[in-house]
Amino acid sequence: MICPHCGVAFHEDWSLVANGPVCFDGTIGTGIEYDICPECNEPIIRVVHGPVENEDFLEDDNEEVILDDKKIVYPYSIEIGLSEDIPDIYKEDFIEAMKLMSQSPKASAALSRRLLQKLLIDEAKIKGASLSIQIEKFCSNDDIPSVLKESVDAIRNIGNFAAHPLKDKNTGEIIEVEPGEAEWSLDIVRGLFDYFFIQPARLQRRRDELNIKLKSMGKPLLK
Ligand SMILES: [Zn+2]
Repeated sequence: MICPHCGVAFHEDWSLVANGPVCFDGTIGTGIEYDICPECNEPIIRVVHGPVENEDFLEDDNEEVILDDKKIVYPYSIEIGLSEDIPDIYKEDFIEAMKLMSQSPKASAALSRRLLQKLLIDEAKIKGASLSIQIEKFCSNDDIPSVLKESVDAIRNIGNFAAHPLKDKNTGEIIEVEPGEAEWSLDIVRGLFDYFFIQPARLQRRRDELNIKLKSMGKPLLK
């Protein structure tokens, strides 16, 4: 999942901390689970609710339980540690895609795909008739780190673009997602934010600091 605090993806491992009422015939249960993000160490708490496969739910082994309704209740608002170097125009959509993740992975993935396309067009200056073509062009650029290219390219397989041409032609369309696709899409966008905005801004700050030192030493400045 994507941590709602820091926005970094991690492998979720929920612990059931309390299970509440199971309805009179034992078929519907409610529980509270928590997980800790290994990146920022912040807790995430969710309420789970739904049909219970067996009454062991009360014994705390939640493996057998099918609680299909899962809502994150903490953090209440999405308090994300998104860098200030990311332009607001992208940040707003990204936060929206994160918020939608638990309620509607479909809508979240659609927003992420649109964001991905916008980044490729506006920041990488890539043209093309479809997202697939734009991704192909992006991946043929030797200046871009291969790890980033591979992760962007993988969205075509993970999202099964071949079977869902709308994802490719009309990126913002809300349609079925494959398992893990919504999270992968968000993660790709995060990687691109890092590449297009965060790293260059960090390097620029570093350069500015060095220039202040060089200036004080009476040496020529970096360009
Ligand atoms: Zn986190």
